[in-house]
Amino acid sequence: MRFNIPDISLTGDPLDRCDALRKQPGAIEKLKENPQTLYLVLQANEILLNEDGKLALVNSAILPELELQDPGPVFLGVEPDTRRPWFAIMSDPDHAPSNELLQSIGQLADLRYALSALPREDLALCGRAVSLMSWHRTHRFCAGCGEPTRTIGGAEKRVCEACEREHFPRVDPAVIMMVTHQDTCLLGRNPSWPEGRFSTLAGFVEPGESIEEACRREVMEEAGIEVSKVSYAFSQPWPFPHSIMIGLFAEALTTDIELEDELEEAHWFTRTEIKDMLAGKHPKYLQPFADAASGVLLRIWMEED
Ligand SMILES: [Zn+2]
Repeated sequence: MRFNIPDISLTGDPLDRCDALRKQPGAIEKLKENPQTLYLVLQANEILLNEDGKLALVNSAILPELELQDPGPVFLGVEPDTRRPWFAIMSDPDHAPSNELLQSIGQLADLRYALSALPREDLALCGRAVSLMSWHRTHRFCAGCGEPTRTIGGAEKRVCEACEREHFPRVDPAVIMMVTHQDTCLLGRNPSWPEGRFSTLAGFVEPGESIEEACRREVMEEAGIEVSKVSYAFSQPWPFPHSIMIGLFAEALTTDIELEDELEEAHWFTRTEIKDMLAGKHPKYLQPFADAASGVLLRIWMEED
């Protein structure tokens, strides 16, 4: 099966990641001093935006005034045409002078709320930066021996000071699937969501299973539905904190829904209902987030009609 895939948000990072350059001793350090270098400023999952809601980038002149958190500047890459380097930095939220300085430049905004506001390429860069910084924050100690780890080069990995084990940023694969039966599709709702919010089913791939097996297991666990054919549609990096969503279509063999603990409700939805939901005109169900994988799956399904 071939799908007509729209542009997927959080993809399209335009920078050259400069793999060869990262291996040259001192090369990344030199780029930090380049007056042309741009720095993307983060604070936890928030990014610094200017008054117009665009990325507020700073240069190296501002760095001495900011209190940076581990891992310091993270090299993102260079612009392919100008070779201008980009780094991401994490400002310490407990350092009042840093906060005052950031407030004078712009405002911090949660990446989730910037999803539909930022241009696609900027959003992809922000997603990558948030994901990398989150990984650094939670991997300051070696999983092998418990001693502190440190970053080297452009902070693309961490190394244990005691046992020299290398640790690389992780990506957690998750399946998200549009389960269909004839002309209906299966959506469920998590009890923590607002009233009327429904989504395609999703879950993490577990050790020892394929993507197709993870899809079949999750649908059975969450809704008691047996699935036969599974087709890959697209993938989307999801930086909350470091997943990749694997978008699938799955054909149901059964239709009787049996809920376990995870979902509060699940129903089969008609194309008319989905059309109204996507248009934000359904009296009972909320409009799906167009940029998230569930919304993309629904849009693809409707276009196939
Ligand atoms: Zn170690």
